[in-house]
Amino acid sequence: MKPYAVSEQNSLGRIFDEPKSPLRNDFQRDRDRIIHSSAFRRLMYKTQVFVNHEGDMFRTRLTHSLEVAQISRGIARSLGLNEDLAETIALAHDLGHTPFGHAGQDALNQCMQDYGGFEHNLQSLRVVDVLEKRYFKFNGLNLTFESREGILKHCSIKNAKQLGALGERFIHKTQPSLEAQVVDVADGIAYNIHDIEDGFRSGILTVEMMCEVSLFEQIFSEMKKIEKNASEKIRVYETLRRMMHSLINDVTQKSQKNISSSNISQIDEVRQSSLPLIQFGEDVELDLIQCRQSLKRLLYDHPRIKEMSIQAHKVIKLLFDYHMNHFELVPKDYQIDDNSERAVADFVSGMTDRFAINLYESLIK
Ligand code: MG
Repeated sequence: MKPYAVSEQNSLGRIFDEPKSPLRNDFQRDRDRIIHSSAFRRLMYKTQVFVNHEGDMFRTRLTHSLEVAQISRGIARSLGLNEDLAETIALAHDLGHTPFGHAGQDALNQCMQDYGGFEHNLQSLRVVDVLEKRYFKFNGLNLTFESREGILKHCSIKNAKQLGALGERFIHKTQPSLEAQVVDVADGIAYNIHDIEDGFRSGILTVEMMCEVSLFEQIFSEMKKIEKNASEKIRVYETLRRMMHSLINDVTQKSQKNISSSNISQIDEVRQSSLPLIQFGEDVELDLIQCRQSLKRLLYDHPRIKEMSIQAHKVIKLLFDYHMNHFELVPKDYQIDDNSERAVADFVSGMTDRFAINLYESLIK
């Protein structure tokens, strides 16, 4: 590993001291704690874009997290960074997501408007710091600073001020470790590609529609020349596979250049930097922005997906209000301090799609 990678030697450690493991390094232990957590298992039944029960072939938060981990490991390895840490952050990055994807988080944020709001990144940190309970001596999983730093991808300044060393970078507008930056770009690569694939599978997206996206169109038109007799489905798969490959290549090359020209030699210099060093090249960055805009209009704002968002708002709002009025029904594990609104938000956000829908349906009968 390069000297500017996170290592056990330069790690800022855990909040509660623990003896070292003879078999695994600190970041492998963090990863294993996440895989064995209850919040991780529940990602299997949480929406990425399509509600979990719409079909078994769509991505869920769990398969999304696995794809992000795979891409993160590859980029981290190519750049001489800490693969184990990158994998750990990727597997944990969406642990705080509500049921029903972004619609669920917007709804819960509205419910919590007068009580400090709801941010899914901050909630992911709360899951590993507080809500998972498996140890005699502390709440949470007692992860290393570096895993927690990576999990907290975004944070409002107001909340950052409550977080001590972990919140400082949001106040000073500096960067986290390169491994955290790698997961950030890997997340974008994963969801752009798999949302297109799921969009095709659902019948919402067509090749004609996607040909307005230059990243897609450039490769797809080449695929037509290479294999004239291939089915459209295989051409689309080849295109998406090659798109992923070219995005990973581009970000690896550009980031390597950035690292070399910045002359950084240690992790402190990474954290003092005001701009991320892990970046796409300028052209690809612009292509990705165009891709996002098209996906928003063609897929995320499609009436079928919007309908799901409206349903999600109804379900989350009712479950929140109901538990505020019947606080005794919130499991004791969530009643951490005297903040009943936060306990209800923790409980509702931890629900899977199907648990939330079943409970909602039993309550409106
Ligand atoms: Mg994600």
